[in-house]
Amino acid sequence: VDEFGLISRYFTWPVRHTALGVGDDAALIDPTPGCLTVAAADMLVAGVHFFADADPRGLGHKALAVNLSDLAAMGAQPRQALLGIALPAADEAWLAPFADGFAALAERYGVDWVGGDTTRGPLNLCVTVLGEVPRGMALLRSGARPGDDVWVSGVPGLAALGLAHLRGECVLAAAARDAALVRLHTPEPRVALGFALRGIASACIDVSDGLLADLGHLLCASGDEACAGARVAMPLSAELEWDAVAAPLTALLPPIGDALRRDAVLAGGDDYELLFTAPAACRESITALTAPTTAPLTRIGRIGAAVAGENGSLPSSDRRSAEPVITLIEDGRRTHLRSRGYRHFG
Ligand code: ADP
Ligand code: MG
Repeated sequence: VDEFGLISRYFTWPVRHTALGVGDDAALIDPTPGCLTVAAADMLVAGVHFFADADPRGLGHKALAVNLSDLAAMGAQPRQALLGIALPAADEAWLAPFADGFAALAERYGVDWVGGDTTRGPLNLCVTVLGEVPRGMALLRSGARPGDDVWVSGVPGLAALGLAHLRGECVLAAAARDAALVRLHTPEPRVALGFALRGIASACIDVSDGLLADLGHLLCASGDEACAGARVAMPLSAELEWDAVAAPLTALLPPIGDALRRDAVLAGGDDYELLFTAPAACRESITALTAPTTAPLTRIGRIGAAVAGENGSLPSSDRRSAEPVITLIEDGRRTHLRSRGYRHFG
């Protein structure tokens, strides 16, 4: 089959709330009055983000899930998705389950698959998602303020543990192994949680690079915002309680190597959980969210003042290089941590 055959066979699905889907030069979308359109794209490259022999159905799921996670982190309602795909060959035994995995997740979240592009090349997936959020309600990285609590959904480090298992770096009991591999291969985007956090969270980010790294991004963005107008901008700082951060993973697992657990919890990427901040006055409303959003929520620390990092205070033009101070509190001991996570060009 040629590319047009592939498109009509695998990439053409009925749309439910879009004016025109696949088939013309572009899709046509009716925006909801009073809403802003939220747009995100995430690329998955074979050999960088996944193994080329990864299960195609899971890959279809994950390619969309990581994008829906970005919409969740904005508090957006997902609406449409587009898929740009480069394929080494027209392998239908691969394409059918891949497209099914993508479409099944789209269906569950009411996402119309409205277009894309299909070309020959090294396996590469680029998904674009569109969502909507009422004007003024979007969750941003930049709203955290000193004194806010820091919260995280789900089990920080779970996906990293799955990867460690695949690499033979640890041996897990069946239940823990299954949970870890599900989180790694077919993460559930926290869309309902993002939605519920509108009007509650002061800042939000999804955890893709690792807890410390993504908390670092939030602290930088919020510091910039808190210092807006000042000559010197510094990231905010944060304190994390080790027992709280590690509790979800520890509850799920028999004891595993301390270094491995620490690495997974603090630096493991690929969890696609939501990391958010909120004023202490919101604790009860957040705890009440736990049931309907299905992911448990854990309060793991608090936001501190803007503090100059190792680099000292920096003029605002250099602030991107300032590293936030994140302090880990463990048995009363305080340790400063570095917030760097996975970097493609680091
Ligand atoms: P053009 O040459 O105008 O880009 P294409 O032949 O690439 O048109 O695409 C024809 C139609 O098929 C368009 O509506 C496009 O959005 C859709 N399409 C192409 N590839 C995909 C894909 N991988 N997933 C969904 N829709 C696709
Ligand atoms: Mg095209």
